[in-house]
Amino acid sequence: MEDLSNIGVIKDILRRHGFTFSKALGQNFLVNPSVCPRIAELGNAKPGFGVIEIGTGIGVLTHELAKRADKVVAVEIDERLIPVLNETLSEHDNVKIINDDVMNVDLGSLIRTEFPELEVAVCANLPYYITSPIIMMLLEQRLPIKSVTVMVQKEAGARLCAGMATRSMGAVTVAVNYFSEPEVLFNVSRGSFMPPPNVDSCVVRFNIKDKTPDGVDDEKFFFRTVRAAFSQRRKTLANSVASGLPCGKNVVLEAIAAASLPENVRPEQLPMEQFIAFANALGRLVPDK
Ligand code: SAM
Repeated sequence: MEDLSNIGVIKDILRRHGFTFSKALGQNFLVNPSVCPRIAELGNAKPGFGVIEIGTGIGVLTHELAKRADKVVAVEIDERLIPVLNETLSEHDNVKIINDDVMNVDLGSLIRTEFPELEVAVCANLPYYITSPIIMMLLEQRLPIKSVTVMVQKEAGARLCAGMATRSMGAVTVAVNYFSEPEVLFNVSRGSFMPPPNVDSCVVRFNIKDKTPDGVDDEKFFFRTVRAAFSQRRKTLANSVASGLPCGKNVVLEAIAAASLPENVRPEQLPMEQFIAFANALGRLVPDK
């Protein structure tokens, strides 16, 4: 087996297959040999587990996952990489590649069919243009998974793993904290990739909670309210929600008062319970939401 994280080997494989990187697909491949084994180890790739990988590149992380887990199902959008993967992963009989956009894959049904008797984890070096949508999709579907361990831009990692009621939080922070216990595992410099991106990265892990917070009247409306609350950076909760949802500012102010919050409160000041209390109060005032 060739060393897939050796830059010379990677260049040779890509040259033989006439492969050129697509910036639009976020193709920055890992070439630092120490990173993929760490993601696999910390990402629950182990006996008894099936792993879903999103975006294989030439299969450098896929290889480390397949060495450790019982089975790997990897979703890769770029069909030009399929012949490359047939070569680089030929030693593994526990890997299945799906050539599709991960946003179009029914992961619930994939888990039922491919991993009927295994615990499931997600691991990926994510394409950065679609980081938040992929993470939201994984969390909001309530998939039967133990953890999501992904490489993201360092700044995105800080926002994803920010605590509630902190300055750096955003809508995605609320979702992440609602469904999981997030943590930053380690940083990765831009020089670890080919081609190097313009930013540094970090690996984060979301340990999926068995139980989400109590007391939410309507989960869909809760998340609509959260998204509206952060739709206008640095505005008050009242102004953001009034412009992001089809209800007048007076109604939003009434909900803020009903949740015992100050009129000029900002969304980044709210802990989870207060967000829930506010969204519930607003939901009761907006019956046909
Ligand atoms: N795992 C490889 C590595 O670490 O070297 C590649 C990571 S690269 C940052 C992201 C990969 O995701 C690319 O191979 C890209 O083609 C793929 N990709 C981009 N958008 C995707 C999508 N919507 N669904 C599935 N794969 C996607």
